[in-house]
Amino acid sequence: MSQSVIIIACGIAGSVLAMLLKHKGFSPIIYERHAEIQQAGISLGLSPQTFKVLNILGLAEKLITLGVPLDEFVTWSELRGEIIGRKDAPANALKWLGWPQITISRSTYARFLYDSAVERSVEMHFSKKLVDVKQDGDKVHAVFEDGTEAQGDLLVGCDGLHSAVRNVLFGKEEVKYSGLIQVGGFAPIPDAFKSAKSIFYQVFGEGAHFLASRVSDTQVAWATTIPQPTETQEDWRRMSLAETKEMVKHLQVSTWNHGPSELVNSATFVTRYGLYERPILPVWHKGRVVLVGDAAHPTGPHMGQGSNQAMEDCYHIVRLLCKAESWTNTTLEAAFTEYERIRIPIVTKSVGQAKIQGAHRVLIGRDACEKSDEMLKQGGGYDPESMKVQLELVQGPFTGESEI
Ligand SMILES: Cc1cc2nc3c(=O)[nH]c(=O)nc-3n(C[C@H](O)[C@H](O)[C@H](O)COP(=O)(O)OP(=O)(O)OC[C@H]3O[C@@H](n4cnc5c(N)ncnc54)[C@H](O)[C@@H]3O)c2cc1C
Repeated sequence: MSQSVIIIACGIAGSVLAMLLKHKGFSPIIYERHAEIQQAGISLGLSPQTFKVLNILGLAEKLITLGVPLDEFVTWSELRGEIIGRKDAPANALKWLGWPQITISRSTYARFLYDSAVERSVEMHFSKKLVDVKQDGDKVHAVFEDGTEAQGDLLVGCDGLHSAVRNVLFGKEEVKYSGLIQVGGFAPIPDAFKSAKSIFYQVFGEGAHFLASRVSDTQVAWATTIPQPTETQEDWRRMSLAETKEMVKHLQVSTWNHGPSELVNSATFVTRYGLYERPILPVWHKGRVVLVGDAAHPTGPHMGQGSNQAMEDCYHIVRLLCKAESWTNTTLEAAFTEYERIRIPIVTKSVGQAKIQGAHRVLIGRDACEKSDEMLKQGGGYDPESMKVQLELVQGPFTGESEI
């Protein structure tokens, strides 16, 4: 009988991990706290790493058709009233790495992964909120809020930012609020976005940052980052139209011309969420339990790398599990240690750079804006260090042929 893997939960990482494990002959079973896949959230940026990993499952080409491939990054300064940078980095990624950068609705992506897992007969159980994990020799037991339990040879925590698996393994530590929130939503495509080139558009101004890009033939996703002393925990709920109209009235960017005001004022829904930080732990496993994705390394959104880094985790963990003989405590310990050795330096760079970017985005005072605009202009609209890190990151998780 093939080894069984309990996967908590059915988010972005969980569904891909399950499909990769099944593809390699293991028996994954997903347990998710919600009753069904959520129609929630705004959008995600997917970069070449995601397509390399999903290509192993034959899903990359289809996925590209569900989002919008980017051609160019365009940066506007609200203070100067002009474009301060253009970069054709996404077009170059396609040329050099063979895979694009796309923007996609997060719920479209989650639904696509879920449907693909169903097609591959991945076993899934919903309304199963994990509350505890017990380890006993060479077995792991997941304990759910409804009092039921499941047993497996291994348990992988893919349960996101507030990971219960992580809390059980390493003790509950506070998730730190960054002092920034984002408000974002969808709006019909304005004329300026109907040009032949598909752009990722960002606007820098005093006290707020704004970004927007198409997610379909009819819709643009946008988000604004703003400082806020009080926390707003993310539930990714899409507000009603009435709530949305009320919310956007108060956004600073609702009066910014050249994109933001039009998009914000025609929003069909918004979602509001705080940005949080959790330290990157030096170890991501204990016994037969290991963390993947946001559960191990949540990140601010400013490098667009959260879900892409989760795909790299999935690739390496499955590659190393394939190599680990008979899944003894010793071979698993070696596999998880190797996984952490490869992944921790990369996510440390990605999460660290996202934090720096976040601090650059919300500028207070005219002097700070002028300084930032000048630096951005020199870098073609981007902080040169962040562009360098971005170019390194999108080359993962392997070059040449996949090893799985
Ligand atoms: C509904 C939703 C909408 C999102 N929208 C956006 C967005 O618009 N933009 C953005 O940048 N990021 C968004 N994110 C976060 C983004 O998906 C992740 O940062 C990234 O894709 C990494 O994926 P992940 O699988 O590690 O975590 P996630 O995609 O966050 O998945 C975590 C999963 O764990 C489940 N879960 C949590 N606790 C338990 C538990 N105790 N027992 C069982 N299941 C549990 C959750 O319900 C969820 O399905 C969203 C996340 C969610 C859950």
